[in-house]
Amino acid sequence: MEEFDFIRSIQPNFYRQSSVVKGIGDDAAIVRHTNEDIITTVDTMVEDVHFSSKTTKPYHIGYRALAANISDIAAMGGKPTSYVVSIVIPDSWTADELQEIYQGMNGLAKECNMDLIGGDTVSGEQLVLSITVLGTVLKGKARFRSDAQENDIIFVTGTLGDAACGLHILLNASHTDHEKYQYFINRHRMPMPRVSFINQSDAIKRMSLNDISDGIANEANEIAMASDKTLIIDYDKVPSHPQLFDFSSKQKFKWTLSGGEDFELIGTVSNRDWEQLQVIAKQTDTNISAIGIVRNDYKKNGTVWLQHNQELNRLEKSGYTHLRR
Ligand code: ADP
Ligand code: MG
Repeated sequence: MEEFDFIRSIQPNFYRQSSVVKGIGDDAAIVRHTNEDIITTVDTMVEDVHFSSKTTKPYHIGYRALAANISDIAAMGGKPTSYVVSIVIPDSWTADELQEIYQGMNGLAKECNMDLIGGDTVSGEQLVLSITVLGTVLKGKARFRSDAQENDIIFVTGTLGDAACGLHILLNASHTDHEKYQYFINRHRMPMPRVSFINQSDAIKRMSLNDISDGIANEANEIAMASDKTLIIDYDKVPSHPQLFDFSSKQKFKWTLSGGEDFELIGTVSNRDWEQLQVIAKQTDTNISAIGIVRNDYKKNGTVWLQHNQELNRLEKSGYTHLRR
């Protein structure tokens, strides 16, 4: 298929957002936002590095690549509005498979009310999909990792480790297990970023926030470092899906703390705002759990500690724990 035909085939025939002044079809796209700040983020996925076409259908490649970006916008406290796609296409990919990638992106974009407004198409050796997302946030309402304060409650949305378990099932398990653990496979293939929850939380004055793309061990450390505080997490309070208990405690430990790509959120709020945040969560059908507390301990600031089996151990970015009090 010619590049021109390809672009025509993925070009939307209407835009959901009134902010789109010019979408696909000129030298560049234009969006207009007068009252909000603009957030932008980019994420690149390379075939055989970030996904394998053996375990991932084209639809899910598109879906997940966009989900990762949307999750970053949500983690800044924003609302995703539009995206541009740069794609490197090897000869071996068929026109139908490429359509499916775009359908996967569009499926999620529709749910989030976003528009595809441009991109770039080139050929190459490996499929590379790079998506840039634009989003908006009200002035003063962006959420930073550096905003955690002493005595804040640490919370997470959803259940953790699901996507890592799903990938494990896809790579290792029998067909019957695929059926039994369909929930985890779906969480790997089609994670839903927490956009609506975050977009209803403007009333919360201060909240530190990070999205869980590499596992909470990593993301909690990022908050601890950026805020120069000590995060204490109680392992028994870290929420997991009931079926995760079917697996060994070692696997469960690894997946919940270091399993990436659940695209849930980890954050901290003041004790005073915790109740209100729970109400917002309920209104937006979001499970949130309190998993720990923020301390200001100058000897430990910048680190994360995990309470587990009556011990308090340092939790490294990698998810590794070791005794050091
Ligand atoms: P130019 O040569 O001016 O960069 P192109 O021929 O590359 O223009 O693209 C024409 C239009 O199609 C532009 O609006 C561009 O943003 C859009 N476009 C090109 N490739 C893609 C793609 N892979 N996905 C979405 N839009 C694309
Ligand atoms: Mg171009």
